[in-house]
Amino acid sequence: MEKIQNLFINGEWTKPSSEEYLDKYNPTTGELYGKFASASREDVDRSIDSAYDAQKKWERLTSVERSKYLYKLIDLISQDREYLTNILMDEVGKPRVEAEEEVDGVLDQLQYYAEFARKITGDVVEGTKPERIIYQYKVPYGVVLAITPWNFPAAMVARKIGPALISGNTVIIKPSSDTPFVAGWIVEKVRQAGFPPGTVNLITGKGSVIGDYMTSHKKISVITLTGETKTGVQIMKSSSSIMAKLILELGGKAPFIVWKDADLELAARVLMWAKYWNSGQSCIAAERLYVHEDVYDKFINLFIEKTKTLRIGDPRTNDMGPLINSGQLSKVSSFVESAVSEGAKIVFGGGKPQLPDKFSKGFFYMPTILTGVKQNMKIFREEIFGPVIGAMKVSDDFDEVIDLANDSDYGLASYLFTKDISLAMKASREIKFGELYINMPGPEASQGYHTGFRMSGQAGENSKYGVEEYVKVKNVYIDYSKDSTKGEVIPPYT
Ligand code: NAD
Repeated sequence: MEKIQNLFINGEWTKPSSEEYLDKYNPTTGELYGKFASASREDVDRSIDSAYDAQKKWERLTSVERSKYLYKLIDLISQDREYLTNILMDEVGKPRVEAEEEVDGVLDQLQYYAEFARKITGDVVEGTKPERIIYQYKVPYGVVLAITPWNFPAAMVARKIGPALISGNTVIIKPSSDTPFVAGWIVEKVRQAGFPPGTVNLITGKGSVIGDYMTSHKKISVITLTGETKTGVQIMKSSSSIMAKLILELGGKAPFIVWKDADLELAARVLMWAKYWNSGQSCIAAERLYVHEDVYDKFINLFIEKTKTLRIGDPRTNDMGPLINSGQLSKVSSFVESAVSEGAKIVFGGGKPQLPDKFSKGFFYMPTILTGVKQNMKIFREEIFGPVIGAMKVSDDFDEVIDLANDSDYGLASYLFTKDISLAMKASREIKFGELYINMPGPEASQGYHTGFRMSGQAGENSKYGVEEYVKVKNVYIDYSKDSTKGEVIPPYT
């Protein structure tokens, strides 16, 4: 039966005022998966008003009381985790192992943030006189607009609602139109957990109708976006009139450096993950492969051999599923065409895989490896977001390799494989990325600060630094002497 999903406003599932619904397709079969509400501006107003009103009460609860709702939500999600796993497989086309891993991630994140109860503490600092004191309270901003992408549609919702709620903010979730049902399922669990009405709302719909409207709405205090860099730029513009706090987690173009002394087998295994996880649709995916000239041929051959073992097809039974939609499929194939036209060589893959007829409308692309890529080719400059990687042979000059890695508009994740501790430490110091993985795979941990340099974003998520993005420091000055004006410069001055 076809799924239909409404909006969630003020604690209730509600039809959109326009009565309009949008289609969502299953990326594996290309068939209609369900219909979801297309919100109007009036719906947006209602949801934001409800979050705004609810926030005043939510903030008054102790953090321990707020955490109890989060623990209840964790319980409900864990009891029904197979259901969420299934939606992730259907809606995104994630292989089962990866869908299960994402559910683990959701629970881990919510748990991590619930544990921040009692831990968001301010300071008491001395005032300008002995009988003066300044209290620095960490207070919530108010209403948070959480805009999430389709590639980790459940984990990104958890990563945003967790810190926002524990610190006393209320939330409007605006998921991607490619994954409205994952977000809807989590919100239904929020309802079952008994969160006060208005604390969490769900708005879905067309960017052209509600995008700029939401991000310039006066009652929004924080906008947390995970999405493309161009979306971050657009939101910076549209939100400038409301001076919202922005948490922007944007695109990546991770360099993956394999040095001459690396454990090649380990590096190749990690690259299988770093490139093909979620069909390459990850912000921390390896996107630029730099291999030392002494081991270049050996490493590329090893990686090709491993890539050949990948099973592609129905995500329920294979290692790699489809891309999210037809637009993504054309974008990925155009990257390969442009690299070839600029002189790169396909050494594995290219094009669509041969699959049974029932997947003929699915958005599949072969895992693809290109060699002979140069630093200025489009494939090394822009985010591919697919199972395609270009490789470049590098010389023995490690400084030059660090320069090549840093030479990118993006600065989210980076990878280095070497046994040389001096080079590893040098890279830790000189690499200009929010994350460096040395001799290991990702992804980022709840306790690590996930942040992008340059066009990969601003502010960050996870860790205590990520939680602190959701609170402001309010200062209360108190003078407890009998006369606070004594010795002050106050008119009349004589
Ligand atoms: P996207 O930018 O197209 O969409 C992200 C969200 O923004 C969606 O909900 C979309 O509807 C919404 N949106 C788009 N334009 C908007 C506007 N003008 N106003 C308000 N909302 C708007 O990104 P995507 O295709 O869903 O996700 C893939 C991108 O996300 C990639 O670039 C990837 O690198 C990035 N990403 C980054 C991280 C990170 O942690 N840095 C994590 C995951 C994904």
